[in-house]
Amino acid sequence: MEGQRRLKNARVLVVGAGGLGSPALMYLAAAGVGTVGVVDADVVETSNLQRQVVHGVADVGRPKSESAAETLASINPLVRVVRHDVRIDSTNALEIIGAYDLVLDGTDNFPTRYLLNDACALLGKPDVWGSIYRFDGQVSIWWAQHGPCYRCVFPEPPPPGLVPSCAEGGVLGVLCAAVGSIQAAEAVKLIVGIGDPLIGRLMVHDALRQSWDALAVRKDPDCAVCGESPSVIELVDYQGFCGMPGGSVPAAAGAAVPVISARELADLLPGSGSKPSVLLVDVRGSEERAIANIPGARAIHLDEFRSGAALLEIPFDQTVVIHCRSGSRSEEASRILIEAGHPDVRNLEGGVLAWVRDVDPSQPTY
Ligand SMILES: [Zn+2]
Repeated sequence: MEGQRRLKNARVLVVGAGGLGSPALMYLAAAGVGTVGVVDADVVETSNLQRQVVHGVADVGRPKSESAAETLASINPLVRVVRHDVRIDSTNALEIIGAYDLVLDGTDNFPTRYLLNDACALLGKPDVWGSIYRFDGQVSIWWAQHGPCYRCVFPEPPPPGLVPSCAEGGVLGVLCAAVGSIQAAEAVKLIVGIGDPLIGRLMVHDALRQSWDALAVRKDPDCAVCGESPSVIELVDYQGFCGMPGGSVPAAAGAAVPVISARELADLLPGSGSKPSVLLVDVRGSEERAIANIPGARAIHLDEFRSGAALLEIPFDQTVVIHCRSGSRSEEASRILIEAGHPDVRNLEGGVLAWVRDVDPSQPTY
């Protein structure tokens, strides 16, 4: 009775109604958490449904927070669901998080992760964090007052573009259930006050080996946000900190890559028989090429650009257009080619997704 009462009085903020947020939200509602906040500014897309089980086919095109709120009401109408249809950032994070007892981080980008960590550290609240990629997952609780924070363990973000998002790199859908339900379990334990919370332990899951390993993680006395003399005493520019476009710190690689639209590319590509005036390069994997592709593209994987092997295969006296799924891997490949001295490289804006949307809607997308 006491535990159930605590759940009823608890206020949990779930950031991201996506792969991790879906199972977490559903179990928190089923457990009887009194107030559940949902932060998400996106709408449901068909490609989400493989892992974002709080939404269904009928929800495609609806705001995720609305769709999630409806599912939660159908699971437990006694839960008060508060929708936050906004992008959480430095201007609103403290106010939003301030109304809750704990945060469950279901985001898949580094700026928001650092933002939530710092905001929770400044407010003294626990950040129940999870992360997934392809077949791997990680879970921990960052709580600066009682153990390490995210920055203690990951002081620097990876270079932009090095770690693709789940939409870009793919993820085993059911892995979200494994990691998101552990986050929900840790939230319930914290609220009820039972067991040993995952503070100071980082759980690492490998779905292919079906293993869970626990790593001990420690507070860093030099941590920028929770160390002995912190340099981060208020929220900062997280896009800039992570070197993302739109931030105040320029992306590490520097110069902008020229782009070309799908329609412009269609005009450059010849009909059957004539010689192409541009070399079109597809840097995606073979599984992706099997779904949708641009006719005439030559397959040279991004890894071959990173290793330098691609430079030997590409003529430097011809216009090169590079594409991937949506444009970020091809931007990296374009930049490598430009830095190697290629005079005429363009990145296909929006990737094969833009091609299917604007030129060839008969192909499926993913
Ligand atoms: Zn710290």
